[in-house]
Amino acid sequence: MMTAIPMLDLKNQYITLQSEINAAIQNVLYSSEFIRGGIVREFEQNLANQLNVKHAIGTANGTDALQIALMALNLQPSDEVIVPDFTFISPAETVALLGLTPVFADVDYDTFNITADSIKKVLTKRTKAIIPVHLFGQCADMESILQIAREHNLFVIEDACQSINADYTFTNKNTIKSGCIGDVGCTSFFPSKNLGAYGDAGAVFTNNDLLAEKIRAIANHGSKIRYQHECIGINSRLDSIQAAILNVKLKYLDKFTTERQNIANIYDSEFADCPEIKIPTRNSQSTHVFHQYTVKIQGNKRDEIRKLMNERGIATAVYYPTALHQQPVFEPFINSQCPISETLSAEVLSLPIFPELTHEQAKYIAHEMKKACRFEEA
Ligand SMILES: *Cc1c(COP(=O)(O)O)cnc(C)c1O
Repeated sequence: MMTAIPMLDLKNQYITLQSEINAAIQNVLYSSEFIRGGIVREFEQNLANQLNVKHAIGTANGTDALQIALMALNLQPSDEVIVPDFTFISPAETVALLGLTPVFADVDYDTFNITADSIKKVLTKRTKAIIPVHLFGQCADMESILQIAREHNLFVIEDACQSINADYTFTNKNTIKSGCIGDVGCTSFFPSKNLGAYGDAGAVFTNNDLLAEKIRAIANHGSKIRYQHECIGINSRLDSIQAAILNVKLKYLDKFTTERQNIANIYDSEFADCPEIKIPTRNSQSTHVFHQYTVKIQGNKRDEIRKLMNERGIATAVYYPTALHQQPVFEPFINSQCPISETLSAEVLSLPIFPELTHEQAKYIAHEMKKACRFEEA
């Protein structure tokens, strides 16, 4: 038997990049520019170049990035914002925190993403914005979502926390990076994300100059000129040490992305002969950067299989075990039916995927999964 396999191995990656990362951190320590230093601007510029977007603005984390984006759009109390029902809490949480109303839309069973049809079902006169989440690393149907937004005069705020570097191609062949397609996009550099810092960090993207200026001010106490405050802001800056680390890792993002995709391809082909395991559906308009490789197991067998994998020393995870509209905190907002989201929360299982996972390990995980699905002994 192989040694235990975790969901993620950040130490291995650090050891590979150790000398570069240590030097980058040391430079910040010598500069003593811990907040808003030159390295923050340098990283923001390199990130904007990588994603081919006009502005990338660092924030303290991805949740703040979403909050700041919403604050910059001048939404009013009781305005409704459509969010996917099957995702991490941040989009709905920030909407509610700002006194806006989160409206949950169901997702697609195959791609896990919010759909144009589910958005149309929950649109009202009070709808002002949509937050599509590109879940697990694959873009939502942005072409249709932008179409609805144009027709109904809505803002589109992309949650690209799991999809950094994914490419979305429109019917006219125009290709844009995830997070840079709507009015504004947000990402997270939480350590486990595809581009991960060594602490909390995030960013907001936009091609709109005025919005960029406003976002930059909101992230810094609503201030453009020191001690002059134009709007209510928050304190949510990307700190220099995290920027220095991310600036090193950014150079490897394309390589890391390809390595994740290679592992996903191995899983796909290994599971081709196992009908019990429903592999993730690839959407033809988006590349998939596989923040997670998430399969579906029907018939109430997911938890038993997970237990068997655990006994074999292979970590798995459930993203997400509860549909958002079923979370106690959102009880006051329950306003829509999301049966697919509920089904997914019972069927999804994410397998280890990270750039340093070897192909041999991926094949081993796949073989053990297939055995577990047949309820065979380890
Ligand atoms: C990680 C994540 C966030 C929040 O990012 P933080 O940096 O942890 O605040 C928001 N949305 C999605 C979809 C995420 O995966």
